[in-house]
Amino acid sequence: MKTSAVIDQLKRRFPNEPEYYQAVQEVLESIEDVYNEHPEFEKANLIERLVIPDKIHSFRVTWVDDKGNVQTNMGYRVQHNNAIGPYKGGIRFHASVNLSILKFLAFEQTFKNALTTLPMGGAKGGSDFSPRGKSDAEIMRFCQAFVEGLWRVIGPNMDVPAGDIGVGGREVAYMFGKYKKLTGEFTGAFTGKGIEFGGSLLRPEATGYGNVYFLNEMLKTRNIALKGKKCLVSGSGNVAQYTCEKLLQMGAIPVTLSDSDGYIYDPDGIDEEKLKYVMELKNIYRGRIREYAEEYGCKYVAGGRPWGEKADIALPSATQNEIDKEDAEKLVANGIFAVSEGANMPSTPEAIEVFQKNKILYAPGKAANAGGVSVSGLEMTQNSERISWTAEQVDEKLKWIMRNIHENCVKYGTENDGYINYVKGANIAGFMKITKAMMAQGI
Ligand code: GLU
Repeated sequence: MKTSAVIDQLKRRFPNEPEYYQAVQEVLESIEDVYNEHPEFEKANLIERLVIPDKIHSFRVTWVDDKGNVQTNMGYRVQHNNAIGPYKGGIRFHASVNLSILKFLAFEQTFKNALTTLPMGGAKGGSDFSPRGKSDAEIMRFCQAFVEGLWRVIGPNMDVPAGDIGVGGREVAYMFGKYKKLTGEFTGAFTGKGIEFGGSLLRPEATGYGNVYFLNEMLKTRNIALKGKKCLVSGSGNVAQYTCEKLLQMGAIPVTLSDSDGYIYDPDGIDEEKLKYVMELKNIYRGRIREYAEEYGCKYVAGGRPWGEKADIALPSATQNEIDKEDAEKLVANGIFAVSEGANMPSTPEAIEVFQKNKILYAPGKAANAGGVSVSGLEMTQNSERISWTAEQVDEKLKWIMRNIHENCVKYGTENDGYINYVKGANIAGFMKITKAMMAQGI
C-alpha cells in the first residue's frame, strides 16, 4: 500500500473533500509499515474498505422559522464502519457542515471508538443549519424535522447518535422526543440524554475531564506535575468548559477561552467563579465570550486565536484546523511542552510536524478526547441494563479508559529514541482492532 496512491484515488472518486483526505492521510502514513507486514490485508482490499464509509445518507430538512417562513437545510449521516459494534458518533449543527467534514469526523470516530475498549463502530452526522441566533422553538422544530429524515437509519443496535458542535443536551432531548414518537418505543437510540430519561451522569463533563486525565498521563511520563501550570484553552462550549473545570480541580490555571469571534486572555486565571459565569453566559444566555472581557476587564482579541499567549500547555477544544504551522511555531517558541486535543483534528498536519520535531507531548483528538464517546458507551450499557451508575462509578470507569488508551499509545507509539508518538500509537492500536474484526467477519 502506498498512501499517496490511495489519496490520489480518493481525490478522483470524491473531489473537493480536503478534510476527509487529511484525516485519511494521517492514519495511513502511520499504519503503512504495520500494514505492509500483512499480505492478507492487501488481498482483502482492506484499505479501501476501511477508508470509504459503509453508507452515506443525505436528506433535505424542511422546517418553519418563527416568522412562518419555510426554510431548508441539508441533513446527513455518515455510517463509516460497524465492524466492532453499532455505528456511534455525534451530530454537528454548524453552517460549515458538508460531506468532507462529516466523512473526516466519521473516519476519526471509527478509530477513536475502537480505542475506548467498548463495542462501538464509527459514524457522524449533522446539518449546515446554524443554531446561532435561533429561538428555542426554532431549534425544536429543526431538531424534529432533522429526525424525520434520520430515524429510519438509526436505532439502539444500529446507529446511536449523540451531540457534537451545536448539539447539546437540549437538542439531543428534542431529537430523542421525536424519535420516540415516530417509533413508538423508548430506547437508547441517542446518548447525551437528560439524566431523567436514561442519560448518564458525567456525560456532559466526559470529554473535557477525559482530556485532562489523558494530559496528566502524558505529563507523568516526564515526571511533570499538572499543578500550577498555565493552560491555553480554546473554545467555550461544553468541551472547553469541563476542561477548565477539571484543570482547576487539579490545580492548573486556564488563562484563555475563545469562540468564532475572538479570544479572551485572563492572566489571573479563569477561576471557579469566572467559570460559573462562562457556563451561564454560554449555556443559558447563549452569549459570546467577548462579554467575559467586559465583565472581568481582561484582554479580548477580536478575530484572533489564543496560540500566541505565553503558557505551559495547550488544550485546543474548538474545531478542526484551528492550529496551523505558524501557531504551532509560536506555541513552541513560547515554551509550551504539551498539547492535548479536546477538539477533533484541531492541528493541521504541518502543525503536528512542528510539535513532533520539537518532541512536544502531543496527543491527537482521537485519543485525548475519547472520554466523551466513552461515557456515551457507558450510557448505552446503563440503558441496556436499565440501571444508573453513580457519578463516582462513571468517573472511575472513565479514568480507567483514558489510562488504557494512553497505555496503548505508549505500546504502539514509542519510537527508538524513547519519544512517544501518540499519533502513531493511537492509529496502530485502532487499526489492529478494527482490521482483525473485519478480517474475521469475511466479505
Ligand atoms: N461528538 C463526540 C466525539 O467527537 C461524541 C460522540 C458520541 O458521544 O457519540 O467523539
